[in-house]
Amino acid sequence: MAVSFRYAVHTDLGTVRTNNEDSAFASPRLLVLADGMGGHAAGEVASAVALRVFAEVDQTSGAELAAEFLRAGRLARRALFAMSEADPLLESMGTTLVTVGSDGDRVSVGHIGDSRVYALRDGALYQVTTDHTHVQRLIDSGELTPERARTHPYRSMLLKSLDDQPAGPDLDIIDAQIEPGDRVLLCSDGLSDYLDPEVIGATLMTPDREQAAAELIRAALAVGTRDNVTVVVADVVDEDTSQASPPEAADGTGQTDASAPASVLAAAPVVVGAAEDGVSLSADAAAALRGCLPEVPFDSTAPMAGARVSTPGAGGPAAAESQPSQSQPSQSEASQQTEEAWPSSTTPADYTSSADPASPAGTVGATGHAAPTGPTGATDPDTVPVPDAPSRSLPGVLAAAAVVVLAVLLLLVLG
Ligand code: CA
Repeated sequence: MAVSFRYAVHTDLGTVRTNNEDSAFASPRLLVLADGMGGHAAGEVASAVALRVFAEVDQTSGAELAAEFLRAGRLARRALFAMSEADPLLESMGTTLVTVGSDGDRVSVGHIGDSRVYALRDGALYQVTTDHTHVQRLIDSGELTPERARTHPYRSMLLKSLDDQPAGPDLDIIDAQIEPGDRVLLCSDGLSDYLDPEVIGATLMTPDREQAAAELIRAALAVGTRDNVTVVVADVVDEDTSQASPPEAADGTGQTDASAPASVLAAAPVVVGAAEDGVSLSADAAAALRGCLPEVPFDSTAPMAGARVSTPGAGGPAAAESQPSQSQPSQSEASQQTEEAWPSSTTPADYTSSADPASPAGTVGATGHAAPTGPTGATDPDTVPVPDAPSRSLPGVLAAAAVVVLAVLLLLVLG
C-alpha cells in the first residue's frame, strides 16, 4: 500500500482575537495542528516552533513514525525551554499538538493537549483522541457529563501540553487503525468547544474537502467562536489502488488541495496560522533558538519566521537527535491510548446524509485555553532542527516597549 493524504487546511482568527495562536501543517504523509498558549506572543511562538519541529518528521524516511513523534515532542520541549529561559516573556509558553502521519502502510496519531483528531468512516464520526483536560478527567470519573463539560468554566484547563518543561510528558501515541477511505479531521478547540459532534460529523461529510473545511470554520464562526479556529480535513487514500478514495474535490479552490492522484506525492506542504504568519522573537530568544538548532541558518535580527516548511533544504532528518531511544515514560500511556483507539470506543455517532450541517448547536461564550499553569522546568536544552525565514516583529517590539515603560513607572513611584 501507499497510504497518503489529500488535504484542505483552513484557519480563522475567530470573532474576538486579533492574533492567531493556531498553526497547522499538511503534506501527503503528515498532518500537524498546534494551538499555542501563553501571554504576549508566547502562544504563537510555541505553536509555530512546535509545528516547525514536527514538520521535520515529514522529511524523515524509514523511521517508525511513533518514535519520530516522541522524538519531535522532546525536541520541541527543549527548544521552548531554551527560549523561555532566554526571554521571560516566553515563560510558561506551551501548545497543544495533534499529528497524523502515514509511513505508507499504516497511519499513526500523536496527541497532547485538547486539540482533537476525529475520523469519519461510513457516515459515523469517531473521536480518536481523548482530551488531556481537567474536565475530561471529570467525565472519565463520572462526575461530569460531556454536555455539561462543554460549558464548564475550567474546560480549557490542560493537564498536559507541549511546553517549556523539558522533562514534561510525551505525546500519546494512538494506533488508530485509520485506513484508506476514511476522512480525518484535526481541529483546535476553537471548533470542538463550539460545535456539537453531530454538527461536526454532518459538516465533515460534505464531499468536497475544501468545502467541508470552509463549512466547519463557517459553522464555528456562526455560533460565535471567540477562539482561533483551525481545521485540517484529509482524505486517506491508497495511491496504489486509489479506488478507495473518498469523494474527490470538484475543484481545488483553496490553497491546499492536492486532488489529482498523480500529483499527490508531489503536492507542496501547506502551512497556516502562526507558523505561516511568522512570529517575533527577542534577540535573546532568537539566539536561544539558534543555539538549539545550530544547523539551520537563522537571522536573529529578523524574527523567527514561522515555518515556511516547504522551503527546500531546511533542516532534514539528520538535524535532530538527542535522547534517541529513552522513550520509557510514555509507554504505559501509549498502550492505554492504543486500547481506547477508535472505533472500539469513544463517541461513534451516526450521521446520515440528511443531517443538517447548518444547525448551530454549539456553545457560545467559551474562551481559549486557560493560562498555562505549570511551573517552569529545570533541565537542560539540547539540539533540534527548526525554522528559517523572514518576517514581522511588531509584538516583540511592543512587549519590549511595555517593559521599558513599566520600569520607568516603577522608578518614578519609588523615587
Ligand atoms: Ca484554542
